[in-house]
Amino acid sequence: MSLRLPSRTSPVARLTLGLMGLVVGMLMTLNLVFEAVPDRERTKQELRRQFAETLAIQVAALAESGDGKTLGRTLQQVLARHHEILSVALREASGYVVDQRGDHGRYWAAPETGRAAPNHLRVPIQAEGKHWGDVEIAFAPDPPRSIREWMSEPKVLLLMGFSLGGGLLVYAYLRRVLHYLDPATAIPDRVRKAFDAFSDGVVVLASDGRIVLANNSFRSMLPEGSEDLHGHLLSELPWSRAAKAEGQETVLPWEAFLRNGNPVKDYPMSIAQPRGASLEMNVACTPIADPDGRLRGCLVTFDNVTDIHRANAKLRRTLAELEDSRRKIEAKNEELRLLATRDPMTGCLNRRAFFEIAGERFEQGLRTNRELSCIMADIDHFKSFNDLYGHSVGDQVIQVVARTMAGTTRPEDALCRYGGEEFCILLPDTGLEQARSIAERMRSAIETHAGEAIRSTRVGKITASFGVASLCQGAVRIEELIDHADGALYASKENGRNQVTAWQPQAD
Ligand code: GH3
Ligand code: MG
Ligand code: MG
Repeated sequence: MSLRLPSRTSPVARLTLGLMGLVVGMLMTLNLVFEAVPDRERTKQELRRQFAETLAIQVAALAESGDGKTLGRTLQQVLARHHEILSVALREASGYVVDQRGDHGRYWAAPETGRAAPNHLRVPIQAEGKHWGDVEIAFAPDPPRSIREWMSEPKVLLLMGFSLGGGLLVYAYLRRVLHYLDPATAIPDRVRKAFDAFSDGVVVLASDGRIVLANNSFRSMLPEGSEDLHGHLLSELPWSRAAKAEGQETVLPWEAFLRNGNPVKDYPMSIAQPRGASLEMNVACTPIADPDGRLRGCLVTFDNVTDIHRANAKLRRTLAELEDSRRKIEAKNEELRLLATRDPMTGCLNRRAFFEIAGERFEQGLRTNRELSCIMADIDHFKSFNDLYGHSVGDQVIQVVARTMAGTTRPEDALCRYGGEEFCILLPDTGLEQARSIAERMRSAIETHAGEAIRSTRVGKITASFGVASLCQGAVRIEELIDHADGALYASKENGRNQVTAWQPQAD
């Protein structure tokens, strides 16, 4: 934003210019009305007119005496002696030219009747009370006047002298008078010094928002060149836009205060400093009232809080950095937790994590008498995949089966890679029949899709056998429940594999 301060032309100079303009204007008007100062042009015209009159009298006498020769000589002499005369003629009223000297036909242009023509004079000659004829004189037009000639006009000289001398006198006088009227000088020096002792910026405003007094601290907050503040509007200083309402008319706190008298305290503002910096301050306004309680102005204080703002900004940055580190640490912890609880090959829970969760769920199920079931699964003839296609394909088979089973479980189910190609799933709030149908869905999904999911080799069909047991069947420890499911799985294997068997106590 610009650091432009209000116009610095002194009020005395402005007043002087205004007053002199007024006086000169009045003088010109007076001169126009009373013609006090001689006008060179007018004087010249007057002389020409008198000359023409005299010549007309002479010519009239010669014409009357019929002395044509002397008349001709006289006109010739007039032309020879007066270089500004281009032609001269004597014309009868009928229009007949009695005599002419110079190229009168070329130079003469008759002035319109009733109009003044500065370079063409016509003087009528009367004889026996009648218009006998005219003497016509054509003068050479004036060459254009130079500025120097114009300046040497008495009227212009007088005006210039008067403006200059009078201007200087008025300026000196106004300076003296305004010094006594200056409200700033009305503030005693000790008051001024007391204000300067404040570390806060202090400004005394008149009721129109103009600065009556600003202390040193306030001046030091402003950009260079803002020292002469007296009489300026406080609002004209380069307050930053941040302190102003965007897109609408700005009402600065002291303006609002002078308008409505509502106290202002800790109003945040900032003022632009050189090189793009800005100074942050808290503004407060307190009233200055006359003995009748009328608001005559206000005292505005500026508390420089730039350092606090900087410290706060630094603190905010540090907090943001801390928050960022905390998030990173949490992400790392989560990664570690996953590593510690998951089987790296399948992403299923490892046995340790599974037993932790399953133990808790089992206890809870026992305590609250809620349903809980367990599914054991084992890939059929898995060894043959290893043997036929190698261990890497065998690993892929394990991963595909794990993925297929995970696709059928709910978030609250715990899916564990129990052994090489064995899986155990604990299903909270699930009865035996429901667990059996979930196991059936898993079995069917593996049989239908798992083989196709191995892209590198055509492994053919992949199947798995399932055993299901439920808490309601009487297990008192998690290991016992898992053993029941494992027993049922054994039965599935025995009965030809790729099937689901629910544990039955008599089958034990
Ligand atoms: P059944 O139908 O009776 O379950 O037959 P099976 O071949 O699946 O059973 P068995 O337990 O005899 O074979 C399991 C084999 O799985 C033995 C072991 O070499 C292999 N195995 C165990 N863990 C892994 C593993 O992480 N990757 C691979 N590729 N093979 C594994
Ligand atoms: Mg197997
Ligand atoms: Mg096995």
